[in-house]
Amino acid sequence: MNAKIAIIEDEPDIRRILCDFLLKNGCTVSEAADGLTALKLLTEDQFDLILMDLMLPKISGERLIAELRTHSDTPVIVISARSMLETRLEVLRLGADDYILKPFDLNEVLVRMEVVLRRTGSANPSETITIGGLSIYPAENRACWKDKPLSLTAKEFQLLLLFMEHPQKVYSKANLYESVWNEEYCYEDNTVSVHVSNLRSKLKKASGQDLIETVWGIGYKMKEEK
Ligand code: CA
Repeated sequence: MNAKIAIIEDEPDIRRILCDFLLKNGCTVSEAADGLTALKLLTEDQFDLILMDLMLPKISGERLIAELRTHSDTPVIVISARSMLETRLEVLRLGADDYILKPFDLNEVLVRMEVVLRRTGSANPSETITIGGLSIYPAENRACWKDKPLSLTAKEFQLLLLFMEHPQKVYSKANLYESVWNEEYCYEDNTVSVHVSNLRSKLKKASGQDLIETVWGIGYKMKEEK
């Protein structure tokens, strides 16, 4: 993951573990061990994502989030030992994007970070995504099956990008319509079905298999790799 991360955590061991892990995964990392240093760091520099403890010396995580949200949309994932539902809700209400409980699993932290970055659109948009034999190059507006270029219309391309960005997610027709056409969905409309079906047949022709599946009564998703 090529992202610039701020770690705000007063416990040196936890800070070190997170820092080493993220560096190993290709991130750039800055650290702050108390709220005041954090405030300075966040004012002076821009980050792709902030990992934040709540119980911090000098300025609490809650106050930092509230302050940050007055001028910035930078995604925040809270990592805290405070498990009370009210705390979690309060922090999400203040504008945090996710909440991870201590003790945490490092791989879970990474996955949650990826999800938040994708959802908030902070992920590098030119990042190539490959699933099985299928690759998509958003910066160049092209997609390939095993190096063989696919000839897709603009809408088919955008649909495929959405599916590939969130391969586990089931998209309803309304989701797809509102994301790709950017208009409100109305039920009589079969635009989405037509475009998805064209995309599927192109993918099938290139790969010899159905790469998108219908989830009955819900919508569509990428087919799980076998
Ligand atoms: Ca703490």
